[in-house]
Amino acid sequence: MTESASGPVILLVEDEPQMRRFLRAALSSHAFRLVEAGSGTEAIALATSHNPEVVLLDLGLPDIDGLEVTRRLREFTKVPILVLSARGREDDKVAALDAGADDYVTKPFGTNELLARLRVALRHAQGEAKAEPVFELGSLRIDYARREVTKAGEVVKLTPIEYRLLTCLAKNLGKVLIHRYLLKEVWGPTHGDDTHYLRVYMAQLRRKLEDDASNPTFLLTEPGVGYRMKG
Ligand code: CA
Repeated sequence: MTESASGPVILLVEDEPQMRRFLRAALSSHAFRLVEAGSGTEAIALATSHNPEVVLLDLGLPDIDGLEVTRRLREFTKVPILVLSARGREDDKVAALDAGADDYVTKPFGTNELLARLRVALRHAQGEAKAEPVFELGSLRIDYARREVTKAGEVVKLTPIEYRLLTCLAKNLGKVLIHRYLLKEVWGPTHGDDTHYLRVYMAQLRRKLEDDASNPTFLLTEPGVGYRMKG
């Protein structure tokens, strides 16, 4: 275990020495305090003893699977879990998010991307109970009390479904939301598999809110996984 003086505590769970070295260098130079685990069992033990503010979790571990680690952590903690997954393993990402992970980064990733995701995770951890009456992102503004959406000061008329979808994404700014989660939140529990609804309504939202619907800048698709509003 290595520790620097201040900053949020990250539990880094990764068995590959090379990846560990890369992450250690990237994170400790940004004032994060690192607690390191090389296996799932060790990760669960350290999560209890060190109370980390974020868990950075590799899915392929030598003892128990990262998905199982996620499930076990979720039995006792709401700590944000950021999963490290291999490229092209969309099913793994969906399964991890479904098991209770908050987000993922795909290997290989750059330091900047990783730091951005960590900041989002930390923000969610801190702001969990905070109610914001108004949401603003660039020229987009959502007034929750009046249920009114404006873009550059102009009112945008949304259907109730479009509004629910937009606010669901906005309340999880920066975080990837899997298809099934969005479908349940917006359409209800019986629509978990109707992915085509999402495609249709996301296209409508983009037409109404993006400058160029075919080249979205904040209503982003995560291929094979879900959608994310970029903050
Ligand atoms: Ca691994």
